[in-house]
Amino acid sequence: MRFASLGSGSEGNALVVEAGSGATPTRVLLDCGFSAKEVERRLARAGLAADTLSGILITHEHSDHIGSALTLARRWSIPLYMSWGTAQAVGADDANVELNILWGDETVEIGELGVLPYTVPHDAREPLQFVFNDGASRLGVLTDVGESTSHINTVLSGCDALVLEYNHDLDMLTGSRYPASLKARISGSHGHLNNDAAGDILAALDRSKLRHLIAAHLSQQNNTPELARAAMAAVLGNAATETGVASQDEGFDWLTL
Ligand SMILES: [Zn+2]
Ligand SMILES: [Zn+2]
Repeated sequence: MRFASLGSGSEGNALVVEAGSGATPTRVLLDCGFSAKEVERRLARAGLAADTLSGILITHEHSDHIGSALTLARRWSIPLYMSWGTAQAVGADDANVELNILWGDETVEIGELGVLPYTVPHDAREPLQFVFNDGASRLGVLTDVGESTSHINTVLSGCDALVLEYNHDLDMLTGSRYPASLKARISGSHGHLNNDAAGDILAALDRSKLRHLIAAHLSQQNNTPELARAAMAAVLGNAATETGVASQDEGFDWLTL
């Protein structure tokens, strides 16, 4: 399995996950939070064309995740996967696309990838996050989540790689010029993880197999890559896990498990 981000943050998110070898590996896009033109440009930057995607998975209906998913799915006949609530929120059942409804904790097979959607607290209709499994290794993804749950700890324990939200530094958010209502939304139980909260989740997981940890969905106003790196290091200590930070413009380059 290998994976790469096309961009990560409140202005758009998209992650490519690929499994299998040979001429036609299974390749899915997790979230499609840019314009169609921009997704195609970013896919090309990663050496990929949209018509080679086996599916587009959507975590929830916020625009930095749904983006142009319906347009691209229709244009290139790509199957779409999302929860019923997300489908309702974006009108996917009237969009002339191949729609597959996902249920929390029910694994679906897409080609050579096992895809496990799991439920998280976030201020959307029926948000899901994901664990990918190719039979040899597991990649866990968790962004757009307000607080930890025991369910999250169970699902993400024992992963070989994690893409984990480090959205904001709480002091930076508190001292920012954001209106009080927005500060409350972001830091609330259905908002986004701050660096310390992400660290608490990481600390509670079984990390015995963890080879890669990527900090994702960083706020450009209320966090810095340095603070996210420090928060990761504080939990990992001198473990052999390699760390990285996903950026809004570049995402991160291919990592292979
Ligand atoms: Zn988001
Ligand atoms: Zn969101």
